[in-house]
Amino acid sequence: MPAPATRIDHFFSGAEARLDRWRELHRATQVWAAKARTGSDANARSAVSTALSELVSFEDFQAFPGHRLLAALKDRIKGGDAMGAARLVQRISSALMSRSYRSDSGEWEPEDESSGGGERQMPTAAGDPKARPYFEVLVVSPSPSTKWPGQIQNMRKLRRNLDAFIYEPVVVGSFEDAILGVMLNTDVQTVLIYDGFPFASTHNAPVMRQFLMATLDIKNDDLAPHDYGLRLAQAVKKIRPELDIILLSDRNAEVIAADPAAACISRVFYDVEEPLEIHLCILQGVQDRYSTPFFDNLVKYAQKPVGTFHALPVARGKSIFKSNWIRDMGEFYGPTLFLAESSATTGGLDSLLEPTGNIKVAQEKCARAFGCDEVFWVTNGTSTSNKMVEQALLQPGDIVIVDRNCHKSHHYGCVLAGAQPYYVEAYPMTEYSMYGGVPLRGIKKALMDLKAAGRLHKVKMVVLTNCTFDGHVYNTKRVMEECLAIKPDMIFLWDEAWFGFARWSPFYRGRTGMGARAALKEDFANPAYAEHYKAQVAKLGKDLNPKDKRVLDTRLYPDPKKAKLRVYMTTSTHKSMSALRQGSMVGVGDEDFHLVVENFHEAVFTHASTSPNQQIIASLDVARRQMELEGYELVMRSIQLALELRREVNNHPLVSKYFRMLNVEEMIPASYRGSGLRSYIEDGITWADALKAIREDEFILDPTRLTLVCGTAGFDGTQFKGILASEYEIQLNKTSRNSVLFQTNINNTRSDVANLMKVLVEIAQKIDKKLMSGDDTGRKAFAARVKSLMEDVPDLPNFSYFHDKFRDNPKGTTLEGHMREAFYMAYDHDGCEHVKLFSSEADKRARSGPPLVSANFVIPYPPGFPIMVPGQVIKPDTIEFMRKLDVKEIHGYDKNLGLKLIAPAALGMKSKKAAASRAKPAKAARKTKKARK
Ligand SMILES: *Cc1c(COP(=O)(O)O)cnc(C)c1O
Repeated sequence: MPAPATRIDHFFSGAEARLDRWRELHRATQVWAAKARTGSDANARSAVSTALSELVSFEDFQAFPGHRLLAALKDRIKGGDAMGAARLVQRISSALMSRSYRSDSGEWEPEDESSGGGERQMPTAAGDPKARPYFEVLVVSPSPSTKWPGQIQNMRKLRRNLDAFIYEPVVVGSFEDAILGVMLNTDVQTVLIYDGFPFASTHNAPVMRQFLMATLDIKNDDLAPHDYGLRLAQAVKKIRPELDIILLSDRNAEVIAADPAAACISRVFYDVEEPLEIHLCILQGVQDRYSTPFFDNLVKYAQKPVGTFHALPVARGKSIFKSNWIRDMGEFYGPTLFLAESSATTGGLDSLLEPTGNIKVAQEKCARAFGCDEVFWVTNGTSTSNKMVEQALLQPGDIVIVDRNCHKSHHYGCVLAGAQPYYVEAYPMTEYSMYGGVPLRGIKKALMDLKAAGRLHKVKMVVLTNCTFDGHVYNTKRVMEECLAIKPDMIFLWDEAWFGFARWSPFYRGRTGMGARAALKEDFANPAYAEHYKAQVAKLGKDLNPKDKRVLDTRLYPDPKKAKLRVYMTTSTHKSMSALRQGSMVGVGDEDFHLVVENFHEAVFTHASTSPNQQIIASLDVARRQMELEGYELVMRSIQLALELRREVNNHPLVSKYFRMLNVEEMIPASYRGSGLRSYIEDGITWADALKAIREDEFILDPTRLTLVCGTAGFDGTQFKGILASEYEIQLNKTSRNSVLFQTNINNTRSDVANLMKVLVEIAQKIDKKLMSGDDTGRKAFAARVKSLMEDVPDLPNFSYFHDKFRDNPKGTTLEGHMREAFYMAYDHDGCEHVKLFSSEADKRARSGPPLVSANFVIPYPPGFPIMVPGQVIKPDTIEFMRKLDVKEIHGYDKNLGLKLIAPAALGMKSKKAAASRAKPAKAARKTKKARK
């Protein structure tokens, strides 16, 4: 399907649209060349001109083929040289598809002229023995476009064989074109701005203008021309913060450099040019991102002869390569792996637990890359990262607001820290046996209830999963603002295990914890922002009153003078970037970090292995390098592929008969979708509509999370996953009762999309054939199976409440409880009992007591979150749900023994009657349950 782009600012299909137009031009020139032989070529020739004119606007933002080749092409078309034009277009298109122009300078020469020219006598990417990494520099120039070719040649002349990289300049002439260049040209690594350029683009790019205004708050009218340079630098940084910016100004360079707004600029030069300095500055900026201090040193280390007397027999591979029995392992992995293994922290290898050398520097680079103040690398997965953060920040008895649907590391983190979890519920998507995100209203209600109970001071932290497995992305900024309005020193832990890549796209970035922190930092410093708070004080008073019903319905704002920004994020680098399994990071953006830094180190010492894996550490370093240099391109591509896959599945006449990809409106109820966006792929949906949703909605759907409903094809999720794996070699990891989850990430290509479509077509054909050829009985059985998968889905039970024994506030209105106490009661064998799930005792006690109090976590996969936690009172709906579960894996439940419970005696209950009366749900629990229904 051709990418539907007629305007230059269809960002997600820009690259494809461009290649499509080259294919079109290629076809047109072939036709012309064929016709030219017979003489009747007038129409064919004008078709070529049209195809070329549709393409040129894309080429304004790319170095290759560049003005020279395009001028040669135009000459050939004008001179009626059909064969020559066809040859040239053929060469350019294939160089673009294969990307050979990056390393072969022959591609830059109009054919048959390479001996003459002499224009490129400087060393080029071609004939480059090492094939140095290639990038492009966007030059924003005030000079007329006729001067640009000369400018480009002058920059090329600066190339030296010594340079570690090779680059080509692309010149644009206005503020808006510079923005388009940064968005459309993923090869750009550096923006070189010559002050004095105009604002407006000559391209048709209304969406880009909306983006500038809405996301960057930039309108032409508000800017004075002498501010363009600085404002452009700021705008570029908001789109692609990793880029280097060099500003050349004829104003006083020192004055600009001293302006705090210029912090985003790498270097300011006075406009009396220093070309070589600029060249070196460009290379140095890329070198800084390219260099990976730990990995680079590990490579050196592996090349040194080292005698080892430390405890790691595989180091240097001697125990393997000399073995009679395990040499195959050495052959499989190759010697380098073992040369790079060491348990030493000498030889420049540094210590992950207390880094002082290259790990320290590498972590600092990581912090810069991810927009954090500090980053801690973790080699035991985000499971450990989460526990570290929770241990460092929570004390026994502290209350933490936590999504019950979150990863199990948080539940165990609460046990370890002795914190009291206050479980808040994500909205259910019962039809698909899934959960969405936790509505902000529920979080605010929990906080206001705690306030009413005089317990708000105990609340330390809010923990949320962003994005969820299924792709629900929070409005991180709004969540933090409204929580800070209620409690100004709240700490936020955003579990972004899946979402680390989001930093590298301007569309997602504001929806990450750190992206929202950056925006809030700016807001709090802006006097206009305080007006929101003033208006709120006028309406609701200075101290929000829990009895005031309006609080929950009002969009709250914090007092910018009081609110603190204490934000943490954890990410499984291995889940969305090029790190080895278990590679994870903790990102810190906490203005009070100095108060907890020691606790933090304790937490690292508690949880981190004293033998961290060198290869995992190195891969974290390299993953950062990759994202800083090509993250933008890769993430854009994965979004583009996901949108294409959605479109293909839902529009395919046969496939869509049995399968469909869930759209935004099916994943996110209308009440959380103020923008009204229903789908990313619906006809008529523009990129501006998606932008509005990204900016405003309470939840958005990450398009790269693709939920495919397979129940309508008669498969349950587990079954379908099995078929894909065993018959088609397609792997995925999440299923629900009637769906499977696909995700595109930075490693996917168009071929993957094509392959998956092929497989779905094949499966759909098989079903079709079976239904057509079989009799009515077969068709009825199929319909019944589909109905059972799609309609008879069990209700997902909400968290009930902790048993009174574990509550500080037994008769009160809040749901938190001392889970650790309950957890350890399970260690007392005599204090526990088992009750069979399928027994009348279970029914009777769930209804009328003595209460069934879970002794441990019970976690079925899927859905993979605890439906019981230690100390939780088990209600009939949970029993019902457990009985209907048809999954194989249920952690914490042995069906031969039954449910493990804390015995009534251990809970201090004497008679059944007393127990029954104590087991009555506290008022609040009953109320919140009702409210949720
Ligand atoms: C996978 C995951 C974790 C745990 O990360 P690992 O790197 O596998 O230890 C934590 N939180 C969420 C939301 C996850 O998806």
